[in-house]
Amino acid sequence: PEPGEALLSVRGVTRRFGGLTAVDEVSLDVRQGTITGLIGPNGSGKTTLFNLVTGGLPADSGEIWFDGRRVDGLRPWRRCHLGLGRSYQVTRLFKEMTVRENVVAPLADSRWRTMWSDAVRGHEAERARELLGLVGLGRFAEQRAGALSYGQQKLVELAQVLMLEPKLILLDEPAGGVNPSMLDRITEVIRELNANGVTFLVVEHNIPLVLDLCDQVAVLAGGRVIAEGPPLSVRQDPAVLDAYLGH
Ligand code: ADP
Repeated sequence: PEPGEALLSVRGVTRRFGGLTAVDEVSLDVRQGTITGLIGPNGSGKTTLFNLVTGGLPADSGEIWFDGRRVDGLRPWRRCHLGLGRSYQVTRLFKEMTVRENVVAPLADSRWRTMWSDAVRGHEAERARELLGLVGLGRFAEQRAGALSYGQQKLVELAQVLMLEPKLILLDEPAGGVNPSMLDRITEVIRELNANGVTFLVVEHNIPLVLDLCDQVAVLAGGRVIAEGPPLSVRQDPAVLDAYLGH
């Protein structure tokens, strides 16, 4: 898609758990080139929506389109192939392996291996080093991942996701549990990547950060989108204030 057109389009998606409708007829576009924020009180459906988009959970109804294709019937790794990357709220690194080994770890899975472009395949080590440099961790490449700070581990995970050359990265709480100076570093890296063409959908509890970082924000409450638009308009929306204060 051209800048400004939808890269990800969630259309009328619903997901129930027993009698609870966690995601209720949600429609949401993430436009190419944006950093789009997804906020909402606890239990509003953010994680469920992420899992529906990446394929960890099937939707009960609705459609999900990514980069011009319908993807809601595809397995998670197929979606990843198409350029849909994600990070997790809690890092999932192999603590005993080196930072560089972690970055190339997705290669161990033959399904991932096939998705690598020729430019990357056979040059994994160089690419890993390049990406670690990009996230500011070049000098830690040969250290044990578990020896890094939590914030640094989040950056390692970002480098790992970048190995898969995603068009869109879903970030789950990039600021969670990270100290303030590391937080600045993480937001700087997100901005740099965005300037280089990566689109982001970010779930984050730190509202000031979301308002600062994102150019579009969608607000969930009770599984529904109650507001969306630029940060300045969303922060003044009475329905949004109500959803947070009433919680
Ligand atoms: P958020 O990420 O915004 O905190 P979630 O998507 O985790 O919200 O949860 C939305 C609602 O769905 C909550 O009421 C939660 O308890 C419920 N829920 C989420 N996952 C499950 C599950 N696997 N089984 C049952 N209920 C779930």
